[in-house]
Amino acid sequence: MLVGVELGGTKCVCILGTGPEDIRDQVRIQTRHSESTLAEIAAVLDSWRIQHGSPEGLGIACFGPLDLRAGSPSFGHVLSSPKSGWEGADVLGHLSQGLGVPAEINTDVNAAALAEGRWGAARGLEDFAYVTVGTGIGVGLIVAGQTVFGCNHPELGHVYIGRVSGDTWSGHCPYHGDCVEGLASGPAIAARTGVAPPDLDPADPAWELVAHALGRLAHTIVLATAPRRILFGGGVMQGRPELLARVREHLVRSLNGYLRVDEVTHGIGEYIVAPGLGALAGPLGALALAADAAQRSSPAA
Ligand code: ZN
Repeated sequence: MLVGVELGGTKCVCILGTGPEDIRDQVRIQTRHSESTLAEIAAVLDSWRIQHGSPEGLGIACFGPLDLRAGSPSFGHVLSSPKSGWEGADVLGHLSQGLGVPAEINTDVNAAALAEGRWGAARGLEDFAYVTVGTGIGVGLIVAGQTVFGCNHPELGHVYIGRVSGDTWSGHCPYHGDCVEGLASGPAIAARTGVAPPDLDPADPAWELVAHALGRLAHTIVLATAPRRILFGGGVMQGRPELLARVREHLVRSLNGYLRVDEVTHGIGEYIVAPGLGALAGPLGALALAADAAQRSSPAA
């Protein structure tokens, strides 16, 4: 049995099982101050341990930026966050101490990408990207079958893009203003229009600006890491499935014939796609990390 925890900006999901066909239990917890939220999650994990015995591995998929540098004294901590009490929070320590089992932590989007590669819309691919458009914008990059990490994990949701001519709105990212997240995340759409994305008229011109920003993000991803597929998910995409076709159009327009590879010419419909696991990508990503942690520590590994 494996245990996963997905920590998100508005909610956290604890999951017990081994994969999409074998989910034994799920508990949702509202994300509040770090201490009370982590204590509540630890209590769920402890109750499962008492009920089902010690799991073989714990996987933690957490919003970033996270310290994932091997040997760092703050490994597994949240580095910076505008969320109350989360800056410097020792997520890995808090959740793994009580369980005492092999644990692995990665970003929420990297974990979701791993799950999509194992069970979802990127099965069999070694190079792909998973973009989530929701409370924030995150990109999980898989290159040669691995998540990418150097001085930090990539944060492609915060790249700057060329703006639509005449659009001078300052954007909503507290760090960068009009980065992609500041232009096209759920809170950014709400800040610009005064209406939450699920309630915003599908014909509202703001959607075209969102599609433009996401198409430009796809442009950056294609040129930076040349993935074989890009998955676009998250709450905003799920609420407006027709956005996907507009993101494809903007990517093609933005590349302007420069890249003559099948994927972005006649194969664009299979290149920019929805995730296969839907809202379960995140929690299943945590289970994928738990499976990796268990495998790494087993004598046969
Ligand atoms: Zn930003």
